[in-house]
Order: sequence, then structure tokens, then C-alpha cells
Amino acid sequence: MNTTSNKYSKASIEIPTVTVPAHPQWPVLSPEEEHDLKEKIKTLLKRENGVLVAHYYTQGVLQDLAEESGGCVADSLEMARFGKEHSAKTLVVAGVRFMGETSKILSIDKRVLMPDLKATCSLDEGCPYDAFNDFCNNHPDHTVVVYANTSAAVKARADWVVTSGIALPIIKHLAEKGEKVLWAPDKHLGRYVQNQTGVEMLFWPGSCVVHEEFRSVALQRLQKLHPGAAVLVHPESTESVVAQADVVGSTTALIEAVATMPNKEFIIATDASIFNKMRQVAPDKILMEAPTVGEGATCQSCANCPWMGMNSLHNLAEILEQGTNEIHISKELAEKAKIPIIRMLDFAKNMKK
Ligand code: SF4
Repeated sequence: MNTTSNKYSKASIEIPTVTVPAHPQWPVLSPEEEHDLKEKIKTLLKRENGVLVAHYYTQGVLQDLAEESGGCVADSLEMARFGKEHSAKTLVVAGVRFMGETSKILSIDKRVLMPDLKATCSLDEGCPYDAFNDFCNNHPDHTVVVYANTSAAVKARADWVVTSGIALPIIKHLAEKGEKVLWAPDKHLGRYVQNQTGVEMLFWPGSCVVHEEFRSVALQRLQKLHPGAAVLVHPESTESVVAQADVVGSTTALIEAVATMPNKEFIIATDASIFNKMRQVAPDKILMEAPTVGEGATCQSCANCPWMGMNSLHNLAEILEQGTNEIHISKELAEKAKIPIIRMLDFAKNMKK
């Protein structure tokens, strides 16, 4: 365990060391082989009464397949909402474990399968239930708000679940009610939300191994070379990188920015697999990865989440064929975890109205 002193909290918090896996290497397929495998998966989806939902950070070929086969590619919130509303009896979730769990929580009677159950997330792994529960118990006067990138058990301990797309309005809403917030697990997103709202917050010291790797000095150099480029940053990035952004937002917001901003060039600080969707919505724009090199660089991910990379056509076909890798959550836990998720979904619905 790492002991991290959280300057925003009165106590130090113990978080586990997260081992980041190597990027999986998948066999390279010829166009014909890829086509055949995709057709096989489409047939299996029909056989299993299934629908494929994929995250923007998975391989482009999976994102395309999800859309071609009547599923969707989206952010984690939309993935779960889509799965809940779809009539399919089997949801096949190409993403990371908490996404499969959220889908199961919202659709407890459906079968949820994932290509690889070991595909987790540094935020989820860095926030184990017992330690988090202690943290909450030590601060009973705080409203507990957790990011979607958490286990079902951590969600069940929370008052609210939020995604990066809706964190700001929900925290503003809590501030208006005079509430103090205990935030977990992403310290960078938490700090961004606090800077924007001025709310009194305690932070769990977790971070995303992808977004934490973007380097501000190298980004400044790239900006000098491309003065007309808009810088788009996901708020899980460090404060110095966020400070250089023209747009800070969720995956959906960044895709929208590429489609609607007049700039020809974009420097993007989020997982590079999102370029697949960005190229679809803005084929004439030039997209550049924000740099992950420079002082203190580790390049454990190099702008590609290794856990998201565990999803491929190969293991997707395999689990559909064999009906393996099912997500199981007890009804009791799902009921508890559903409450703060539904609170967020209702809040989002009211905002739209
Ligand atoms: S990109 Fe970061 S937040 Fe998303 S799944 Fe990977 S480690 Fe988790």
C-alpha cells in the first residue's frame, strides 16, 4: 500500500499500488480476416439476442462494429443508459470492468458479458471499498460523490455518482444547498471541479494513468509549433495541462468541440482511440496527440489505456461463442449502487428540461 498525504484531507489515506499492465499485442488481421471476424461477431450477437456497446477508448474497429451492428459507441454514462433502454437480453460491453458493472446495475435482469474481465482502471483499482468506507466514516458531515470509474461496492457507499460530463452542475447544485463534498477517486478531476465551483471538498488521491501522463512543458512547445491549434483536455489531466486548454470537457464534449470549433488543428489530451470518432465527425480536421514525454514521464500508457486495449475482435468473438466472462453482482448490492446512479440520471433529465 502507498500512503499518500492528501493536503485537502485531515488524514493521510492508504491507497494500493496499481500495477499497470503492458499493452496487449493482438494479431494483425488482413482486411479479409477482419471482415470475416466482424461478420462472425454480428451473427453471434443475433444468436445471443445481444447488442454491443463500446467506449470511445477502445480500438476503432470495435467502435465501428458496435455502430454497424446496431449498438453504440459512447461515454460510460451513455453506454449504461443505452444498454438499459435497449431490448436485447445480452449486453456485450467493450470497455473496462466498472462499465460492465454499471450496465449490470442498471439492467440487473440482463446478461452482461465483457471481452476481458481483467480490464480494469487505475481509478477503480486505486479505490478499494474498505479504505474508502473508512474515509467516508471519518467524515460523516460530507456528501459522498464518486466518479463512475469505481466498483459497484464503492458506488453503493456514495450519495451521488457522477461522470465527467455532469460533475460540475451536480457539485454546483450541492454547493447551493450548502453541502461539503467528499470526492473520489480522481484527485485531478476533483481539483478541477473545486476550482470551478469553490466548494469545500475532501479528495481521494487517485488518478488515471492515461491522463496524468500528459506533460505541460512539451505541450507548450507543441502549441508554439501550431499556434492555430485548439487544445482540448480531459479534466482527469493535471492542473498545469488543464490550465493550457481551450476546452476542458468529457469525451463527448471534446468530440463536439472538434466538430464545431472553426480551428483546423487540434491538440488532444485524452486517450488517442477517441480519434476514431473525431475523424468521423470532422474528417477535414488535423488531430494531434498531446505529448506524454518530458520531465517525469513514465509512459505507462502513452495516451492509450492498456486496460481498454484488452478488448479486441478476438476475445469478443470468443466470449460470445462460449457465453463466458459474465458480470455478476448480487441484487442487494445492485439495488444500493443503483440509487446514486439514478439520482445522477434524474438530475441529467431535469437539466435537459
Ligand atoms: S483511461 Fe484512465 S480512467 Fe479511463 S479506464 Fe483507462 S485508466 Fe481508467
